[in-house]
Amino acid sequence: MRADDCVGSGICAASCPQVFAMDGDRAVVIAPETTLTKAVRMASLTCPAEAIDVSTSAQSSPDPQEDADGR
Ligand code: SF4
Repeated sequence: MRADDCVGSGICAASCPQVFAMDGDRAVVIAPETTLTKAVRMASLTCPAEAIDVSTSAQSSPDPQEDADGR
């Protein structure tokens, strides 16, 4: 998460509340050690500021099938 790039849309916190939350007008990661899930990937893709870097904000999925088919 690049907090300086966050524009406070709240999309990530709404779509993936188990990982992201709003702290004032910026998002914060509340579960940084979480498994990379489809919801986290989707939050990264839909972030209007491209502030969510899934390579550093979450770990790779331990489920090879999840990585293989993107789910
Ligand atoms: S989706 Fe992006 S811009 Fe919107 S709150 Fe989350 S990190 Fe910030």
